[in-house]
Amino acid sequence: MAQVKKKQGKVPGIFINRRWCKRCGICVELCPKKVFTTDTLGNPVVKRPESCVWCELCELRCPDLALKLEGE
Ligand code: SF4
Ligand code: SF4
Repeated sequence: MAQVKKKQGKVPGIFINRRWCKRCGICVELCPKKVFTTDTLGNPVVKRPESCVWCELCELRCPDLALKLEGE
């Protein structure tokens, strides 16, 4: 049975490697909790990490492996 990691009470570290990120916006669009926003250049920015529910969509769907969740 899948566990809801949020129950552990942790706020994840969400790290974006700027050198690898191509600013496709997939993470921003896919996140069900609107954790990300974008800056004026289109870079994804972690805005609400406390809202993260650890669905891992952002990490799994980033085509450039530029996004990493930590704290699991
Ligand atoms: S793990 Fe899910 S809820 Fe958390 S930032 Fe990524 S897409 Fe959003
Ligand atoms: S999905 Fe990956 S490459 Fe695309 S904007 Fe997000 S971090 Fe950057």
